[in-house]
Amino acid sequence: MIPAAFEYHVPTSIAEATALLVRYGDDAKVLSGGQSLIPMMKLRLAAPRHLVDINRVPGLAGLQETGGALRIGALVRECDLEASDLVRSRYPILHDASRVIADPLVRNLATVCGNLAHGDPANDHPAVMLALGAELVAVGPGGERRIAAGAFFLAPFTTALSAGEILTEIRVPIPPPRSGGAYLKLERKVGDFATAAVGVQVTLGTSGACERAGLGLTNVGPTPIAAKRAEAFLQGKRLDDGTIRQATELAADESQPTADLRGPVEYKRDLVRVLTGRALRRAVERAR
Ligand SMILES: Cc1cc2nc3c(=O)[nH]c(=O)nc-3n(C[C@H](O)[C@H](O)[C@H](O)COP(=O)(O)OP(=O)(O)OC[C@H]3O[C@@H](n4cnc5c(N)ncnc54)[C@H](O)[C@@H]3O)c2cc1C
Repeated sequence: MIPAAFEYHVPTSIAEATALLVRYGDDAKVLSGGQSLIPMMKLRLAAPRHLVDINRVPGLAGLQETGGALRIGALVRECDLEASDLVRSRYPILHDASRVIADPLVRNLATVCGNLAHGDPANDHPAVMLALGAELVAVGPGGERRIAAGAFFLAPFTTALSAGEILTEIRVPIPPPRSGGAYLKLERKVGDFATAAVGVQVTLGTSGACERAGLGLTNVGPTPIAAKRAEAFLQGKRLDDGTIRQATELAADESQPTADLRGPVEYKRDLVRVLTGRALRRAVERAR
């Protein structure tokens, strides 16, 4: 399928990019990796008249720890996360997720910021960012603002980004000592979107009790879901089998799956239960 005709803009600064977005309003779309936008245009599910390609804006490809956070710039690709020793050793939940997104061809182009900005509840990074308590930096005509991941995903394919805003960076707080995370996904075949997936990030205290737990659920609701009751339940407890079992029930309760080609509601809820237990155990092992 051939997309509808569009004008292609190649700004070389964020100011130029946001000015273009403001000028063309609803007729314009940011183009990053193009791995969601271009297929949607080819299927004629989207027909923006102006594409604002940010790939030549300098300064957006940084992936480093600075100022208390891991900063992931707008042009960091999934393959960059996958290849990063820093990410593998200190943010295993991110490494887990980057390895199960699509296939290597897609991962070579798809950006992590695009994965969030697209607002697809089936995408994998949103739940990971909820578990990590990440903060998102948006730059628009009104300047820069920061949005908590928990306030970013409003409805299917709808985020808190305003007209003219570009997601320029993700900031993941540097995990304290005794932290660990894991992301587990069940897919029908390699490269598929999740039937369900769960991201867990925990920090243990010196006594071994849980100081903080973040739990994000993928593709079991209209948006990615932070399993807040399960998170609150885990706080302050030793993460033994009984506690983990109760948390899995809470997370399953908090999921809101619908039946589709990937399975019926009860099956997906059970998947959340099982994956939450496994991800919690793996996260605790890694924290230790
Ligand atoms: C075959 C296939 C399989 C896939 N499987 C998976 C999977 O298993 N899991 C998964 O998570 N994803 C999957 N994807 C989706 C892919 O990972 C996403 O396309 C990608 O993460 C989106 O990033 P992008 O850079 O390609 O965004 P684009 O396609 O360039 O843009 C997507 C949307 O986000 C907006 N946007 C992009 N970047 C920004 C920005 N910085 N600021 C503001 N708005 C922005 C665009 O305007 C557009 O609306 C798959 C894609 C394909 C083609």
